[in-house]
Amino acid sequence: MNLPLTERINRIEPSGTVQLTAILQDLRARGIDVIDMAVGEPDFPVDAAIVAATSKALDRGQTRYGPVGGLPALRDRLAEDFEGCDQRNIIVTNGAKQALYMLFQVLCEKGAEIIIPTPCWVSFSHQVKLAGGQPILVPTRDHQLDIAAVESAIGPRTVAVLINSPNNPTGAVYPPEVIAAVGRICRDKGVWLISDEAYQAFDLGGNTFFSPFSIGTLRERLIVVRSFSKTYAMTGFRIGYAVAPAAVIEALSRLQSHLSGNVCTFAQHGALAALDLPNETIETQRRAYMRRRDRAFELTRALFDCRRPEGAFYLLPSIKPYAGRFKSGIDMAGWLLEKAHVAVVPGEHFFAPGHLRMSFAVGGKLMEEGFQRMQEVLAP
Ligand code: GLU
Repeated sequence: MNLPLTERINRIEPSGTVQLTAILQDLRARGIDVIDMAVGEPDFPVDAAIVAATSKALDRGQTRYGPVGGLPALRDRLAEDFEGCDQRNIIVTNGAKQALYMLFQVLCEKGAEIIIPTPCWVSFSHQVKLAGGQPILVPTRDHQLDIAAVESAIGPRTVAVLINSPNNPTGAVYPPEVIAAVGRICRDKGVWLISDEAYQAFDLGGNTFFSPFSIGTLRERLIVVRSFSKTYAMTGFRIGYAVAPAAVIEALSRLQSHLSGNVCTFAQHGALAALDLPNETIETQRRAYMRRRDRAFELTRALFDCRRPEGAFYLLPSIKPYAGRFKSGIDMAGWLLEKAHVAVVPGEHFFAPGHLRMSFAVGGKLMEEGFQRMQEVLAP
């Protein structure tokens, strides 16, 4: 049936990561034992203090509408981490994903350009297109930002440069001087710098995560987006937030008032409790991801060409060693799912053709078995 849907929705593909999760659920429901190395979802349990605060909020009947921008107490608490900010600089959103979606709606006139270094997360370009904007893809070099290429991509229609460090899907972490240089370029050219910091807690190279927010002179042109999903393993709670000049937050709130209204009230109480967890809790997880990264990298290198990830929980190996057998990452990922019952995401979804994205958010025996299965089917 030929339904009269809009041109803009017809141009959008489903999220490669979310779609794969649905396929996996379906396979498992049919009794097929699939190992999920596809989705970027921590396997740590949600901390008991977060669960307790959420159920306490439910018991107290905190189940009604809340303020559109988020619980004032949560916004105040989040603002404490951003010098010079208060709750007018914070909006709580349904995951960082919704913050980004709304940002493009707020910043893009028709044809406005958003510069996106690639490889990049699956949803960026689609979200920009849905806002009527145009993603301008600028390849990275060895997964690091190419400052000159970013600068020369900025033109009269550019409204923002979007960076994501630690990076999904490459695991690259950008050094402070590179972030500072891109920030200065944005400031001098009068365009926004959007910093997607969903993986800020998981810099696996040491404690070197650097946000452009640390540079005071960039803040007027800076929007930071963060998430509770990865840091606190709270994926299903759907809590993210944006930090920006008050006028941007006010615009986002106006939009959110017509979109979802507030984020789930009792989930926000859980988020408040998350912020009180001792640093040690996150540090323990970070160390666990470091160990997983080391092991996953060792196993990946035995099968593929791969760069060592320095953050987040992804590897992005090239399928070059199997060039004779597979035409693309899509081809190979489909084959691995069918033959090895291992799910990985084709790099094509991330503008990384000929690559696969593998997640080590699931570790231990499952990860070992995932690699074992791949090795068995790939053996000549
Ligand atoms: N960001 C995660 C991933 O890339 C979760 C899925 C999504 O929202 O894309 O796997």
